[in-house]
Amino acid sequence: MNTTKIWLSSPHMGGREQEYIKEAFETNWIAPLGPHVTGFEQDLAHYLGQDCQVAALSSGTAALHLALIVLGVQAGDEVICQSMTFAASANPIAYLGATPVFVDSEADTWNICPKALEEAIVDRIAKGKKPKAIIAVHLYGVPFKAKEIKAVATKYQIPIVEDSAEALGSAYEGQACGTLGDIGVLSFNGNKIITTSGGGALVTHNAKTKEKIVFIATQARDQAPHYQHSEIGYNYRMSNVCAGIGRGQMEVLDQHVKARQSMQAFYKEVFQEVPGVSVMQAQENTVANYWLSAILIDEKQTKGITRETLRLAFERENIESRPLWKPMHRQPVFAAYPYYGGTVAEELFDNGLCLPSGSNLTDEDRQRIKKVIKQVFAV
Ligand SMILES: *Cc1c(COP(=O)(O)O)cnc(C)c1O
Repeated sequence: MNTTKIWLSSPHMGGREQEYIKEAFETNWIAPLGPHVTGFEQDLAHYLGQDCQVAALSSGTAALHLALIVLGVQAGDEVICQSMTFAASANPIAYLGATPVFVDSEADTWNICPKALEEAIVDRIAKGKKPKAIIAVHLYGVPFKAKEIKAVATKYQIPIVEDSAEALGSAYEGQACGTLGDIGVLSFNGNKIITTSGGGALVTHNAKTKEKIVFIATQARDQAPHYQHSEIGYNYRMSNVCAGIGRGQMEVLDQHVKARQSMQAFYKEVFQEVPGVSVMQAQENTVANYWLSAILIDEKQTKGITRETLRLAFERENIESRPLWKPMHRQPVFAAYPYYGGTVAEELFDNGLCLPSGSNLTDEDRQRIKKVIKQVFAV
């Protein structure tokens, strides 16, 4: 039997990426700007709809950093952030010398809990500081409760940074994820649903904001024949070569979404007969790209089989799986910051596992995965 490694999520090229790269070389556009950057931005804006504007950047982390900068976040400010996420959602708060305030998830979407969010805002205001922004995340491509979160944000007049790094191809009530917040963030890292080898983008509804973002992302050069600067700038633009990969990937994005959704359907079927295991599931008014499929294990119903039992069994068969994101308020680097909510995120971390979800997994891969699950749970 084939024993090559099955990855959680690996790059999956569509086929035309190299043609775009070749074109970049032939025209000598080997720079952090060029026709592929413009083309990729247009492809993304068209895909997302809502008349949005897209700025292609060097990473999703850079996009989050710039999002906070254009929202005016400064040293000493407070920024609310979903605790259950990847560290890249929270790190840019620290880059700016601001204070992250972490908020728990809710059990149904695994994303930021609207009730805990409001408690946090009310308490921070009572303590003297109104948070400058709310970073909400569509974890594993499952949309957060946009209507409820927006209602809280509007009530207290706080902008939403929508971390859609995992959710390109997901939608909430028919509207594409990435366009739901005041500013949206996408990632094209190697493990994401499409990749540019490394890259990200910022999504805005405002042409002026896009202009400002591109300005800051290219060293904040004022209009002058010499180098003139009246603001601090960054080198955060996407290269034309990477954008070429992105244009090729956009041609297969819909296929990737369908393939990942079909992995989630596969897991639902496999685990149907396993008591105590539930597969992550999006709300009815949403579409999830299921960037990663994930499960929750209730030990009380599985005769002591935990996510570690399953993870180690996969590992022995050269199959990668991984615990869910460890909440930020439990990370050593963020442990001292304020936290609001209960133990939902912690329980998700303790009992949840992400499973191989790539759009390039074969039927044979699925059989290997299924065999391990059947052995572990004796079904
Ligand atoms: C991947 C990811 C990021 C960061 O994107 P990069 O392009 O890797 O910098 C941010 N937030 C979340 C939730 C992510 O999964």
